[in-house]
Amino acid sequence: SEALTRAESLIRTIPDYPEPGVLFRDITPLLADPRALRTVIHAMIAPFEGSFDVVAGVEARGFLLAGAAAMEAGAGLVPIRKAGKLPLPAASVTYALEYGTATIEAHDDITPGMRVLLVDDVLATGGTLVAAHELVTTLGGTVVGTAVLMELTALGGRGVVGDVHTVFTA
Ligand code: 5GP
Repeated sequence: SEALTRAESLIRTIPDYPEPGVLFRDITPLLADPRALRTVIHAMIAPFEGSFDVVAGVEARGFLLAGAAAMEAGAGLVPIRKAGKLPLPAASVTYALEYGTATIEAHDDITPGMRVLLVDDVLATGGTLVAAHELVTTLGGTVVGTAVLMELTALGGRGVVGDVHTVFTA
């Protein structure tokens, strides 16, 4: 739609951030625009409407989209945080990065049988969303869907994450 095309034009590409050779997709101009924000939140949750109890967002940019999506859908909100940030982590998953590892954690606010929509801003290699999926299932939750604002297709994340709903591709 025209509204989605306009929203996409508000994602800015920044060369050599955070490292030389990386093309960073910066979503803050889109977030700052009222119409674009509303349009993309609707597009992210539309396929899953009525099928989830909570939206789980991955730190840190995933929080921004997950909070808005949860309010719009009438769902709850669960933060998936980097290691060491939560007072009572109930589950923890460590995954490989290009250099080293990262760990994400969640509280037991995700309970057995809870229906979870996983949300992040960008799908790159897929490592983050695979780890987040494992985190939710470790707590007994069911991932009913995964939604990201932008998929970087060249990095092959779809191949490891599996079924993921993406609003924009680059
Ligand atoms: P992955 O684990 O799929 O390789 O990387 C995805 C994670 O890195 C996401 O949490 C996302 O926020 C971040 N990320 C990777 N590349 C970009 C990018 O170009 N722009 C933004 N905004 N985030 C990125």
